[in-house]
Order: sequence, then structure tokens, then C-alpha cells
Amino acid sequence: MTVSLALGYQKHPFLKELGIQEMNPGACAGPDDWSDIKARDILNVITPIDSSVIAKIALASEQDYEHVINTAQESFQTWRMIPAPKRGQIVREIADEIRKMKEPLGKLVTLEMGKIIPEGTGEVQEAIDIADFAVGLSRQLYGLTMQSERPSHRMYEQWHPLGVIGIVTAFNFPMAVWSWNSMIAAVCGDTMVWKPSSKTPLCAIALQHTVNRVMKANGLTGIFSLVVGKGSVVGERLINDKRISLISATGSTAMGMRVAEAAAKRLARTILELGGNNAIIVAEDANLDLAVRAILFAAVGTAGQRCTTTRRIIAQKKIIEELTTRLVKAYAQVRIGDPLDPNSVMGPLVDQDAVDTMMKALEALPGQGAKITAGGRKIDRPGCYVTPAIVRVPGNTQLVCEETFAPILYIMPYETIDDAIRLHNEVPQGLSSAIFTESLKKAEKFLSAIGSDCGIANVNIGTSGAEIGGAFGGEKETGGGREAGSDAWKQYMRRQTTTINWSDQLPLAQGIKFGEQ
Ligand code: NAD
Repeated sequence: MTVSLALGYQKHPFLKELGIQEMNPGACAGPDDWSDIKARDILNVITPIDSSVIAKIALASEQDYEHVINTAQESFQTWRMIPAPKRGQIVREIADEIRKMKEPLGKLVTLEMGKIIPEGTGEVQEAIDIADFAVGLSRQLYGLTMQSERPSHRMYEQWHPLGVIGIVTAFNFPMAVWSWNSMIAAVCGDTMVWKPSSKTPLCAIALQHTVNRVMKANGLTGIFSLVVGKGSVVGERLINDKRISLISATGSTAMGMRVAEAAAKRLARTILELGGNNAIIVAEDANLDLAVRAILFAAVGTAGQRCTTTRRIIAQKKIIEELTTRLVKAYAQVRIGDPLDPNSVMGPLVDQDAVDTMMKALEALPGQGAKITAGGRKIDRPGCYVTPAIVRVPGNTQLVCEETFAPILYIMPYETIDDAIRLHNEVPQGLSSAIFTESLKKAEKFLSAIGSDCGIANVNIGTSGAEIGGAFGGEKETGGGREAGSDAWKQYMRRQTTTINWSDQLPLAQGIKFGEQ
């Protein structure tokens, strides 16, 4: 173990540039305020590229957790009184600092979770984009003005910071999801405590170092903080903690249900971004060249480990054979290998558990009238590599209704557009959806109230790769939360309705006369 750790670390010198040590503290309350590494439980960080240990983390203890929360609470007292545009200036500096570190940060995403380099750096770009968006937002955060029914009264609403917010993130977007939440929440005046996935703690530690440099230069602490630990320990502490006003949790539906239950018990707010089971409808009049390219990216990108990954293709009977043949051909050309190698198009799955889960799902399929048409094998080499699978199914069988977080693409036939929409909506999740068609009528039906039931609905583009300007999230078992652009910022603030009487009278609303003759 020691040997592979040393080799893994020496092999990736950029880790040092990011402040990653062989042994890293797991909690940070602000610049120069990292936890101790002594007498803590240790977590080995394993890269899925070759299953070697690349670093170790001394997990946050209960005392570390308390220190982080107390510091975040104290810092909130001052941070909330800094004018929002000034908070925006600090977020601008964070964006600049992340820009400077884009390449090593992107490489770290690749090394720790296995997505290819363009996707790793793309994820860092997403963090930069949302920070830029938040800077603009810091001069807005608008409230409305209403007309009062009482003379010489003014009525309006204003938005105030919420408090300390907890951010729980999944392994598959180890930097972007934190930035969607924290860049917006920071301009809103909240302080943030981040609990990253135990599969990707180095990404969180590297970002914490990046942000710390900016906060130190501005003489600030406790605005962005970090606690690395198990979901069942640190995660549970956070979601049950009365000092945390909002829990924004991204991950599986099972985790989201647990968060919802704990938060409801103390009437805390939640933003839940949970599992997806995204489908693309391919109509008989679709541009198949476009559809095949889009499906390939959406189904195989990030090795099928995006929440928005396309998992189901609902294809019109007339074109299903041609579409399947073209997809099988395209899948055969996917270059699978070390994601740090620029020639690779698909890297490994995140860990051995993910490989086993994929194989188990595929083994159970033949009993359900399904046929594996391509891929679906483990690749015999160190690391967690598989070939992406294409499976023909008669419809939404039981397994198709579950989200297997791996590259399995189910293809099923439909006859009419109404059948397609019914099949599309028949699963418990509701994140992202798309239709490929040249028909205005079909596209508009898909986007109408009787169409897709998802939070995201696209025409002639795939289900993944959303821009930060829109609100991101989904319905049903996806949790109903919205993050990133549009007016998602409102969830990180509290609304206050205010009425001011600038007359010498006291007229009551609804014309009530109280105690007057
Ligand atoms: P996961 O549910 O296993 O873990 C997510 C996070 O929740 C981790 O940080 C984990 O430690 C934490 N956690 C687990 N139990 C907890 C508890 N009891 N209390 C508090 N925190 C707890 O998910 P994962 O495997 O890391 O990620 C994959 C899943 O995330 C997929 O289902 C995917 O669809 C989903 N996802 C959704 C979105 C979205 O925006 N809708 C985005 C990314 C990923």
C-alpha cells in the first residue's frame, strides 16, 4: 500500500500544485484553519484509472465538525452585512483563481473519478461560468414592488441571506455541483459547509485551497468550509443539525429520501438533485445523423455516469433497426482507456462497486425479454473499465425503471407519438428528456403540458450537457430541486414582505374599522 501510494503520488506531480499532500486533513474552517491529521479515521483515495492509492485523508472528527459549523455561524454575522456587489467582487476573484488553476483542477477530476480530460476541464469551466453568473447576480437579487390598497403606503418584498447552508455532493460532478450552490449562495450572503462524496475528496480539498487563497487575501474566514467524512456519519450530522438552514443534496434518490425525512423533522429547507432515468424519443422523421451523435455523447460520455445520461431510447418502429445498427457501429469505435490519455473517449467507472452493479443489472436482463446487442463486458486490465452496453427491450421492464449508474442504453420501440410520451413518462424519475424530430407538431406536443414530465426537455439535442444559465433539476423521484441559473438563487435567501405607512392615518387592510364609531 505504502509503495503504491508513493508511486501514485510521484506519478502525478500536479497534485502538489493543488496543495494535495500524501496525507490530507479532512476539515477546513477557512484559510490556515485546517484540522489535525492525528488520531483521525483514515480514508484511502483510489483512482479508478489503475486502482492505486493516490493520497490519504484524515477524516473530520466530531470536534472538527463542531469547529467548522461554529466558525461558519460566526462568519455569517459579518458576511451577511457586506453589500452583495462587494461579495460579488470576492466571487469574481474566486473565478479568476479557478481560471488560473483550470488545467490541474481538471486533471484532478480525471484522476480521482475517471472522466476524460476534456470533461474534467469542462467541469472546471462550469465552475468558472457559474461564478461569473453569480458576479452579475450580485447586483440584482431583485424583489418586487406591489401596489398597496391603503393610501400613502408602500409595499414591497426584499431578500435576505438565509444562514449556514450544507452542501452534500455526489462523486460524478465533484467540482461543478459545489460551485453551482456555493457561488450563488455566497453572493446571497450565506456561509457554506461542504460535505463532498468520499469517492472524490481530493477535488474538494483542492478547491478549498483555491478558495482559501482568495479569502486570505481578503482577510475573511468561515465563508467556504469543508468536512470530509462518511454520509452515514458526517452527512447525518449535517442534515440533522438545527444550525443549518438549508441542505442542498445531490446524489441518489435513496439518499435524497433520507435527507428529506431528516430535514422535514426540523422543518429545514432542502434542494434535492437526485437520480435520473433520461430518455430520448427518436421519431421516424428525425435527422438520424444528428440523433446518433447526440445519443453517443449523452449515453457514453462520463462513462454513463452523469445524472443526465441517456439511459433509454424510445424509437419509432420504422427506424429502430437502422438506428440500432448505427449505434452499435458507433459504440464499436469508442476508444476506451486511460482518461488522462487525450485519445480516450471513455474512461473507467468510478470504482469496482460500480462495475459489479453494472454486470449484475446486465445479468438480470435476459429474464425480462431483453437482448444485449453490444458491449457490457469488463475489460481485463487494472482499473474499472467496461464496454458500454446497448440492450434491446420490449418496453419499460422493471430494470429499465431503475437508474443503474453505468453505461447501459436500453432501446425500445413505439408506434405513435402518444405511445412514445407514455413510455417516456412511465418511470419514477423526471430529470432530463429529449426528442429528435423534424416535425413541429411532435416537438411541440413533447414540450406541452401533455408531453415530457421532466425538469429539462430538449429538441434535437441530447439529454446531457446543460448550460448554467438555466435552472437545473428534475421532478418526481429526481427531487424537485433547481440549481444554477434563472431564479434558482431565491432558494438561498429568505423573502420578506414589507409595508411602510408614510401617512398620519392608520387605515386597515380589507377596510376593517376597528374600535371606530
Ligand atoms: P450517493 O447518494 O451515494 O452519495 C451522494 C452524497 O450523499 C455523498 O456525498 C454521500 O456521502 C452523501 N450521503 C449518503 N448518505 C447520506 C446521509 N444519510 N446523509 C447525508 N449525506 C449522505 O450518490 P453518488 O453515487 O455519489 O452519485 C450518483 C447519484 O447522484 C446518481 O443517482 C445520480 O443520478 C445522482 N446525481 C444527481 C444529480 C442531479 O442534479 N439531479 C447530479 C449528479 C448526480
